[in-house]
Amino acid sequence: MTSVSINPSRLSGRIRTMGQIGALPGGGVCRLAMTDEDKLGRDQFVAWLRELGMSVHIDVIGNIWGIRAGAEDGAPVMMGSHIDSVATGGLYDGVAGVMAGLEVVAALNDAGVTTNKPIAVAAFTNEEGARFAPDMMGSGVHQGALDLGEMLATVATSGDGVLGEEMKRIGYAGDIPPRSMVPAAYLELHVEQGPVLEHEGIRIGAVTGVQGISWTEFTIEGQSNHAGTTPMALRHDAGLVAAQIAAEARQIATDFGPPQVSTVGVLEVSPGLVNVVPLHARLTVDLRNTSEERLVEAETRLAKFADEAAQQERCSITSRKLARFAPVEFDKSIVARVENAARARQMNVRRMPSGAGHDAQMFAPNCPTAMVFVPSAGGLSHNINEHTEEADLAAGTQILLDVTLELAGVKK
Ligand SMILES: [Zn+2]
Repeated sequence: MTSVSINPSRLSGRIRTMGQIGALPGGGVCRLAMTDEDKLGRDQFVAWLRELGMSVHIDVIGNIWGIRAGAEDGAPVMMGSHIDSVATGGLYDGVAGVMAGLEVVAALNDAGVTTNKPIAVAAFTNEEGARFAPDMMGSGVHQGALDLGEMLATVATSGDGVLGEEMKRIGYAGDIPPRSMVPAAYLELHVEQGPVLEHEGIRIGAVTGVQGISWTEFTIEGQSNHAGTTPMALRHDAGLVAAQIAAEARQIATDFGPPQVSTVGVLEVSPGLVNVVPLHARLTVDLRNTSEERLVEAETRLAKFADEAAQQERCSITSRKLARFAPVEFDKSIVARVENAARARQMNVRRMPSGAGHDAQMFAPNCPTAMVFVPSAGGLSHNINEHTEEADLAAGTQILLDVTLELAGVKK
């Protein structure tokens, strides 16, 4: 087995350089998709691809990838992530994965290793969805899950620009059509963006998939009335029903146990006066699970409970799905390779689902796909203080390299 080592300080150097593009005065970055800052980040990425001797490819939604030729032609093993950020982003979200891919190629160049399959390193357009919704737009179009025309016509959330026009303006409208490149395999290193790895003192997360998401909004109509004179039995209290649904959402997560989570992030009553029985209530419930079956079970139980609670209080209730994504399962054999590679390097590793969405989930239906997580200090992300230790990043990048070599094969 060929062993090649990555260079941790070169990797960190590229992350720092990218962190200076769109740098915010207090730390962190703002590189919203298709802005001037995004253009400068893209220019830097393309310069690095060329420096590493890779051919540069740009598609119709502005995704960029470089290819390092292999001994054979055909589909490459692709590593990728994104370099756009939220408005107050950190230095690592997305960038870590793209820079790790560059470091893998740099290390292979240094070692003079030729792989059988080609190797690609990609940066996908608008992963964050911060300036243009939806998120994971570039990888979604690339792999055929999102419609190109619709995405090009997307108007910025703030109203300042249309994605397709902005893409032309910054010079990243390519001509490679969607779905023209399905990789032989897709690997993404990403910072965990949560506290689990740090909390457990584990360096490598072998990501098993992305949990499914279900967002429901409940709207309850009751009757406003005097808080002093209305007997309890005669009330139509919309606020009470909302509170009961919120408590049930929590109870579902308790009864199901991990990985089920539930969150009531919006809870409003009106008129919102201290001495008036609420007329109207609105709440949202966010349910997540890695199993589609369990997620449906949680949704069904909550819907039934909500109807009964409203009926009990003689209120009317309506519900509306705000978002629904089925869980994504990554390729079991690559997940096992990530685990084995970590053990072979004496790094502690655990399997875990991803709590957040990533470009990788767009590839999972079309090619063998997996992810490597590295710890996020304090579990912080989408925060200017987001941080990952150099040693952890280096460890994850080494695993990315080891697994890429296995998947691409080494020319004898
Ligand atoms: Zn990200």
